[in-house]
Amino acid sequence: MKATAPPATSAPARYEAVIGIEVHCQLRTASKMFCSCSTAYDGAPPNSHCCPVCLGLPGALPTINRAAVEGVIATGIAIGATTPPATRWDRKNYFYPDLPKGYQISQYDLPLAAHGRLRIETSDGPFEVGIQRAHLEEDTAKLIHGTDPDGRRISLVDFNRSGAPLMEIVTEPSIRTAEQARRYAEELQLLLRTIGVSDADMERGQMRVEANVSLRPRGTEPFGTRVEVKNMNSFRSVERAIAFEIERQAVALDAGEVLTQDTRGWDDNRGVTYVMRSKEDSHDYRYFPEPDLPPLRVAPAWIDAVRAALPELPAARRTRYIDGLGLSAYDAGVIVAQPDLALAFEAIRAAGPGLAAKEVANFVTGDYGRAVNESGQRTPAGLAGKSSATELAALLGRVDAGELSRTNAREVFAIHAAGGQAVAAIVAEKGFRQISDDTALGAAVDAVIAANPAAIADHHAGKPALGFLVGQVMKATRGQANAELAGKLLRERLGSTPGAGR
Ligand code: ADP
Ligand code: ZN
Ligand code: MG
Repeated sequence: MKATAPPATSAPARYEAVIGIEVHCQLRTASKMFCSCSTAYDGAPPNSHCCPVCLGLPGALPTINRAAVEGVIATGIAIGATTPPATRWDRKNYFYPDLPKGYQISQYDLPLAAHGRLRIETSDGPFEVGIQRAHLEEDTAKLIHGTDPDGRRISLVDFNRSGAPLMEIVTEPSIRTAEQARRYAEELQLLLRTIGVSDADMERGQMRVEANVSLRPRGTEPFGTRVEVKNMNSFRSVERAIAFEIERQAVALDAGEVLTQDTRGWDDNRGVTYVMRSKEDSHDYRYFPEPDLPPLRVAPAWIDAVRAALPELPAARRTRYIDGLGLSAYDAGVIVAQPDLALAFEAIRAAGPGLAAKEVANFVTGDYGRAVNESGQRTPAGLAGKSSATELAALLGRVDAGELSRTNAREVFAIHAAGGQAVAAIVAEKGFRQISDDTALGAAVDAVIAANPAAIADHHAGKPALGFLVGQVMKATRGQANAELAGKLLRERLGSTPGAGR
């Protein structure tokens, strides 16, 4: 692919983007927000998980789901937010067919969590996203538009989702680039999954990301008119949609257009945003305190208990890996970003306390990570079960002790991952034993030198041939040669050539 430099007139040169992200995520609770209907409605027949409360029938009264409140308290702690001693429920009034009561129970001026932050890593270095608030509300029903058998256009309502607990997390307008926005969404998903409050799967609608985007000329203070972008259902589309919107607004502003405060949708196929509705007439939701629910007091002891139950957070884990175990920031980032890898890393280290953390990290981000990705399963078949970490620790231990070459270890791992046989049994069956002895390996090296005159000539002509020759030694020894020693012996016999590589 030919790299093309952005045109000199590209938006970021002239304008600074101001971006705020709103995330709605479904909380992982057994029952809905204000009734005892089950939230396990995925795949169930329409309207099979509802009751008078979530259908909004007159006279039905809500009761508060404690687990949902705890989910927001936990999130608040994890983002360093404050939880007020007392919060309240408010009615957000609007009419829409997916909202049977004509109002949504939400939290207006007293959210369960306020003033938090989330640190992210970007290609420009670390960045801290300010978070205004996280509050609790109820989800709407689902509208399904289609045609009936006679070709008439119809809209159907499925109330299974109605009243499911939703947490809305709103950032400050502190984000400046599309990449920061994507990284924020990714880090937030990891955090929510780590603390177990949401599965936060974007494709399944458990995490819905909306981006507010405006531009201002560089060096100026006041915010420009913002546009709200919806319908992005992957991290990639979050970044693409915002990048598109920045460019679109810049072109419009340059042309002297006056932007309107629209709600736009993202069309992933065409790679463009389009107007969904004009938001000029800012909604008047006529918020007022929910009369059917008392204010919610959050005792400090409750917050303490939730804090005590939190697992190690991603940021703390990265710091521990880097500062405590000496991993590179890159390796720590890769491992912590994939909970399956972090689990394997911890388990193998526990099973093989003598192993160098760096070796375990290389293995987990390398062969192990590939096996997980290729199998499409969180734990590939052969790596499931309790003995696995012990087996993998034993495998790395053999390499560490010089008994098994890295090449052979890779083969043993592949067999173990596929079928789950014990490492010792595979090694015995294959007869693998690393050749680390000068005399034994010397004979193989001499044979390879004799058999490859062309490569030897290349080497002497200064061309990189040593890697090929080491490969030949590995081949001749069924991968059992100590590759480093083979390289050393080759260099001794041939004399190293400047620029010849390893
Ligand atoms: P709503 O969208 O419901 O009206 P808010 O007014 O609280 O809610 O704003 C929602 C999001 O928009 C927040 O993340 C906020 O930081 C962001 N935001 C507010 N003003 C701007 C702006 N001019 N440009 C970009 N983002 C903005
Ligand atoms: Zn219900
Ligand atoms: Mg909004």
